[in-house]
Amino acid sequence: MTKYLTDDLQLSHFDGGLHLDGHKSMSTERPVSRLEPGPRYVLPLQQHIGASSQPVVAKGDRVLKGQMVARPGNLVSAAIHSPVSGTVVDIRPADVPHISGLQDDCIIIENDYRDEWVERKPLGDEYNNTSPSDLRRLFRDAGIVGLGGATFPAAVKQTEVNVRTLVLNGVECEPYISCDDMLMRNQAAAILTGAEIIAHVIKARECIIAIEDNKPEAIAAMREVVARDTTGFFEVVVVPTIYPSGGEKQLIKILSGKEVPSNKYPAEVDMLVHNVATSYAIYRAVYFDEPLISRLATVTGEGVREPQNIEVLIGTPMSDCIEHCGGYLDNSEELIMGGPMMGFTVSNDAAPVIKATNCLLVTTADAATVATGPAGTKPGAHMPCIRCGKCVTVCPVRLLPQQMYWYASSKNMDRVQEHNLFDCIECGCCAYVCPSEIPLVQYFRFAKTTIRQQERERKHSDIARQRHEAHQQRLEKQKREREEKLRKKREMLKQKSAAGNGDDSKKAAIAEALARAQEKKLARQQDLPKAASTAEQEQAPSERDKQES
Ligand code: SF4
Ligand code: SF4
Repeated sequence: MTKYLTDDLQLSHFDGGLHLDGHKSMSTERPVSRLEPGPRYVLPLQQHIGASSQPVVAKGDRVLKGQMVARPGNLVSAAIHSPVSGTVVDIRPADVPHISGLQDDCIIIENDYRDEWVERKPLGDEYNNTSPSDLRRLFRDAGIVGLGGATFPAAVKQTEVNVRTLVLNGVECEPYISCDDMLMRNQAAAILTGAEIIAHVIKARECIIAIEDNKPEAIAAMREVVARDTTGFFEVVVVPTIYPSGGEKQLIKILSGKEVPSNKYPAEVDMLVHNVATSYAIYRAVYFDEPLISRLATVTGEGVREPQNIEVLIGTPMSDCIEHCGGYLDNSEELIMGGPMMGFTVSNDAAPVIKATNCLLVTTADAATVATGPAGTKPGAHMPCIRCGKCVTVCPVRLLPQQMYWYASSKNMDRVQEHNLFDCIECGCCAYVCPSEIPLVQYFRFAKTTIRQQERERKHSDIARQRHEAHQQRLEKQKREREEKLRKKREMLKQKSAAGNGDDSKKAAIAEALARAQEKKLARQQDLPKAASTAEQEQAPSERDKQES
């Protein structure tokens, strides 16, 4: 079989990056455990990149396990399913894990403990005879998103077809997180089958399973199942441990030496990257008709009693996960969702586990976790930038973090965008090395959110302006048509009057006078909306001023 990338494979490396202490064995020493179902599940409608999901159930509805309770909001979105059988007790804003700390709309389901599944019809091996578009629809309906943390809808990613190389990302480079490692150790064959299904959808011609060299057990497990495959389609590639080699573009650079251009996707260089956990979820969807209602998550850190990996239903309160792992230690300080580099502090542990929850990290004031990464850094408690340039040296995307910080902090969004803000993968390397302890990533996230908000507002005002202009054009057209009609009528009457005698001529004169009166009346009526629209226009600047102020 022809190999493209893996024939004579020479690993490359990306710029910058950091060698970090892994702290992974803390959670891999215990076996994966499963959380028993709890009484209540909170399902945020926004758990993925893209539009919020739209509820398809109402308060009081009975739902079955695996039943879709919210459909995708638009093309880039994902469905949400009930993790248990029970009753929808509310649909309202509740605490969710988000950087903003704000509440968001959620579907709240009370468990009836009957564990009744919705009817399922697994596709199984039939996927080989199923079209890629039907499989994409299946993934979309199953609510499958990228489980490496990005949560980009899997079906949307797979609209790229004839991509030569499928890359399964088992790198998991961020310290403390070990759920992908444990998944590969325990579910290697299922991950491989998931990869076969994805390869069928995108018509890939080879598949690389990339794993960092600090996961020997996972490497051995994946190699064992790959060895059973005689097609030569799969290859396990071991990459050096350096953070953030699990970033999509960084991994592609390591494997192929190629750079994915700014604002472009990996398909640009004939590759598509999926996390190993996403591949496993796809396998479950195809072979068990099981939507994404659970995931593997690492509960770890110096502040939790029994760090381990758990299989947990989406919607479970984070506090239940911590409790399952022995509870908080007395010196525990902060709960972070994600790792120490890219995660963020969760202010209320009643917030639910969502599709993006790959790790719950509990820090302590005296342990290394706070110093390990910028996730728990408090804004405002930093010193001024001394222009040392260390942040530039470690940036894997070759950005200028100190310049971006300067413009973001002075709210000069045009300038920060000119410095390719949206290429920043929020890896946290810059903040990690910054001697002034500036929470650079928080500034960059703030700038991105502000710019996106400004763009949304600009789009709305553009739409309003276009509507107003279209309305004006319609009025003008109607006016022209009416004038033309009246002109024709007058002409006809004139001709009649010229051709007719006494009485006819009088009648025609009366009709003509009536037509003129009607014309004036219509003109007055037309002036009314015009006057109203002029008044609207005169009012518009003050409305705008109000918004701007
Ligand atoms: S967070 Fe952004 S700017 Fe900082 S090192 Fe990572 S990619 Fe570069
Ligand atoms: S590392 Fe910190 S202090 Fe040094 S240049 Fe970057 S932002 Fe400034």
